[in-house]
Parts: sequence; C-alpha cells; structure tokens
Amino acid sequence: PLPDLDADARVRADDRAHVFHSWSAQALIDPLPIAAGEGSTFWDYAGNAYLDFSSQLVNLNLGHQHPDLVAAIHAQAGRLATIQPSMANDVRGELARRIAEVAPGDLDKVFFTNGGADANEYAVRMARAVTGRRKVLSMYRSYHGGTATAISLTGDPRRWANEPSDGSVAHFLGPYAYRSSFHAESSEQETERALAHLEQVVTLEGAGTIAAIILESVVGTNGVLVPPPGYLEGVRELCDRHGIVYIADEVMVGFGRVGEWFAVNHFGVVPDLITFAKGVNSGYVPLGGVVISQRIASHFDTVAFQGGLTYSGHPLACAAGVATFEVFERDGILERVRDLGVRVVEPRLRAMAERHPSVGEVRGLGLFWAIELVRDPASREPLVPFNASGPDAAPMAAVAAACKRAGLWPFVHFNRLHVAPPLVISEDDLVRGLDVIDRALDIADGYVAS
Ligand code: PLP
Repeated sequence: PLPDLDADARVRADDRAHVFHSWSAQALIDPLPIAAGEGSTFWDYAGNAYLDFSSQLVNLNLGHQHPDLVAAIHAQAGRLATIQPSMANDVRGELARRIAEVAPGDLDKVFFTNGGADANEYAVRMARAVTGRRKVLSMYRSYHGGTATAISLTGDPRRWANEPSDGSVAHFLGPYAYRSSFHAESSEQETERALAHLEQVVTLEGAGTIAAIILESVVGTNGVLVPPPGYLEGVRELCDRHGIVYIADEVMVGFGRVGEWFAVNHFGVVPDLITFAKGVNSGYVPLGGVVISQRIASHFDTVAFQGGLTYSGHPLACAAGVATFEVFERDGILERVRDLGVRVVEPRLRAMAERHPSVGEVRGLGLFWAIELVRDPASREPLVPFNASGPDAAPMAAVAAACKRAGLWPFVHFNRLHVAPPLVISEDDLVRGLDVIDRALDIADGYVAS
C-alpha cells in the first residue's frame, strides 16, 4: 500500500481518543496504526513493511488475508451469517468432527467458545461438575486468559492485580531445565523432580479436593518451555491415580505451531480435556473451544451442562475453521512446520547462541522458539529483571527497536525474544527475519559484562 499520512493521523486520533487498550496504562502507549496485511507481512500507513515474527498474538498461523479463509467467510456470510447454538449447523458440525478426528484418544466432542480464556473457564467448570471437587492446580509461568477463573489460573504477573477472582486455585512449579527450580543437572532429573514436586503439592493440597490440573503443553508466552521427556506422561499418571481431570491448554500451541494438530500428540499423551483457540482459524473470526473425552462428555448425557454463549460455534468462525483444515491438509502445513523448524530455525538459532554472549539458551519446537538473553552467561542473570518495565526493560526495548527498524516485528517477553512466524512464511522470509534478529543481538551483547 502507498503511504497515507492523513489516514495515519485519523486512525491515531480515533484510537487515542476512544479505544481503551488491553493490559496498558492508556496514556503511556502509542499503538501503531496498521493499513494492510498479506501473508507474513503487514504495513503501517507510512508504508513501512513488517515481517511478523509474532503472528500477531501467536494466532495468525495461516498469515494475513489467506484467500481460502477469506473465501470461506464470504461464502458462509452469503449463506447463513449466524445461527443460535441450540440449533444444529453444517459448518459447526463439520469443524467439530474434524477436530475430533485429529484429537488424541477418545476426545471426540467439542464445546465451542469465543476464545481461549472462556475455553479454560468452561473446561474447569466441566472438571468441577464431573469430580464434585473445587480446587484446580496450575503452573507458575503460565498464561490461561484474562477472565475470572482463567486469570486466577495464570501463573504470571498479570494475575497479581486481579486476585482472588477464583479462590480455589493453587500453583506449582513446572520443569524449566535452564533455570531449574529443582537443582536438576539433566532433563531426566528435571522430569523426576518436577513430578515429585507436583505430587507433593497434590498431597499437601489434598488429592480429594482437586478437580483438575491445567497446564500448557508447551508453555507459551512465559518462555516456550518444552516439557522434558516423560513429564506430561507423569502428569497423566498422577491425575489417573487421584481421579483428577487433566486439562491441556493448547490455545497457543494447538493447530500446527509445533508441527502437530495438538502438541500433546508430539508427546503421545492423552489429556481429559484440551482447550484451543487462536490457530483454529487464525483469529479471522473469534473462536475457541474445549475438546472433551468420552468419559467427561458422558457425564453430561443425562445431567445438563450449566454453561453457554450466544455465539458458541458461530458459523463464520467455524467456516474459517473448516477452511483451515483444508489448507493444512492440502498444503502439508504440519510437515512444513516440522521441516522448517529442524532444518532452518534450529541450526540458525544454535549458531546465534554460539556467536552471541548474550544468548543464554535457545529452545523450541516446530515454528515456536525462544531466545533467552542474559547479562552474564556464567551466572545466567537475565538481561532484564523479571517483569521489568520502563528503564529496567531498556535493553530488551533496544533489541526490539532494532528489529523493527530492520522491518521485523518481534515477540518480546521479559528477557526473551520468541520466534513465532506464520506457518506459511516463505523460507526466504524466515531466513531474512532470523538474520535481522542475529544482527539485533549485537545490541544485547553490548550489555554483557566482560
Ligand atoms: N491460554 C494460552 C496458553 C494463551 O496463550 C492465551 C492467549 O494468549 C489464552 C489462554 C487466552 O486466550 P484468549 O486471549 O483468546 O482469551
């Protein structure tokens, strides 16, 4: 698109005057007006192009303006734009069937929501109804959404100002080998000790009071923490032993991000409930949901499920979801993600870790990676403190600004850069974006104590 500074000023003025933004002090932000998007790139009104290495909020798995998704929404809007959830609808049923076909084990029913937070709300509600218990365990270093129970489940600073909105939540520490809470020296030890810790929390909280354990299959915003071998299997076993419902939050990692329909498929684990949103239709129309095992679904065969939403299974959203399945299958998206992850991203990131003293660790799976930055490779002191903002966060802000100047929109959280481009990114763009990050890391190196 051509630069249009009048439009830029207009969009900015309306936004600043009337739009109230998420998670922000309203006077301290300066949202960038966006004119257009195509594939892995979006443009501001000044004509600057940005390669999107964050897939917006790690939801734009098929990129901007994918012609198949746009056409499916058009066609559905022309046919039947909306229908209430208590009626049956063709695209809603087809999408539920296709999700059930790729979900592991006996998970074969879907309750649709508007997004990820409400998917987690309803998953917890199902677990509570089925077990007759109230308490839920969730991980520190997690994000589960902004609504009452979902923010209580969340194990990051976004919870602090919002508690206690659901008082029946307790947190535990998950595996994080680079900064092991358990003084582990191998991934086997990390698995064993993290599971022993979780078992202790279950015992101390009272196994018979716990309805569910919820965890992200790969922790997303809080660090791209890939669980070490055996960890998720151990959680499954612990839940089985105590009659606890295992909820896998796959809002960020489901639908291809790590090269599988669901990340649990990579680990060969079958949870009782899986929550999803984001990648199910790349966010073209808001959609999330809960995939439900037969055991839990059958509880509600004769007992009414106490929950619902006007837009549950909205046809426009579901049509975009069905089109997502067609594109994934036709274009081999899962295979592509696995290939690009192993062949392009991982070796380049490992080379950056060798070259840049500020890179403490790189880790990830598929097209989902973290570059963890440190001030001191020996002590692993983070480049910026936990939850840093303002001047404390300046080193990360400088790295991010360098990326943006070079035409790359990065995902930055605390002392990490994440690599999470659309799954349709071209190999050339992927390499170009990684090269931009490589150069920006020189700035981080400047903060490393020599
Ligand atoms: N769960 C995870 C793992 C997420 O990453 C997010 C959003 O980033 C959510 C839940 C909440 O989803 P939503 O913002 O659609 O409510």
